[in-house]
Amino acid sequence: MSAISEIDLSALKVVKYPDPRLREVCTAVEEFDDSLRGFVERMFEIMYASNGVGLAAPQVGQTIRLFIANPTAEPGGEYEGVYINPEIIERSGSDVGDEGCLSFPGMSCKIKRAEAVTIRAANLNGETFTQTAEGLQARIFQHESDHLDGILLSDRMSTVAKITNRRLLKDLEEDYAETKR
Ligand SMILES: [Zn+2]
Repeated sequence: MSAISEIDLSALKVVKYPDPRLREVCTAVEEFDDSLRGFVERMFEIMYASNGVGLAAPQVGQTIRLFIANPTAEPGGEYEGVYINPEIIERSGSDVGDEGCLSFPGMSCKIKRAEAVTIRAANLNGETFTQTAEGLQARIFQHESDHLDGILLSDRMSTVAKITNRRLLKDLEEDYAETKR
C-alpha cells in the first residue's frame, strides 16, 4: 500500500509560499496504482479550478516527483499530460517570459528559461516516454520540474522583480504566519 492511499483527496488544496513543503526535494514515485491515479485526477480538478496550466505534487502538499500540465488550461485535449519522475534531458535556446505560480497567487514576473526542452518521464502506467516541447509548454515543464527540487519563482526572479513584488511576497509570508498562529 502506498502512502498516497492514506491521503484525504477532498482535503487537498494548493499550498502557498512560504510553506516549507514547497522547499523539499521530492522523492521518486515507485508505485503506479489506483491511489496514484485518484490523486492525479484530484490534482487536475484543483488545477483547472484555479485556471492553472501546471501543478506539481508538492503544491498540494505531497512531496513526490510528479506534475501535471496543460498549456491550454482547458480540461482534456491533446496537451493534457501527467509527468511522473520527470527529467529534463535536453535544453536549447533561451526565452524570457511572464510566469506565474498557483503557490504565489497574484504574482507574475519575467523568468529566463530554455526555449525548448525534451523531458523524459513515466506515465500513470509506469511506462517511460519522452516529449519535446517549446514555448509555453517548455516553460511549464521547467517551472514544474523546479518545484520537485524545492525551487520556486522567488528563487528565479530578478532583483528588480523581487522589489516589484516585495509587498505581495510579504503579504503571503504574513498570511502563512497567520495560519500557524
Ligand atoms: Zn509553480
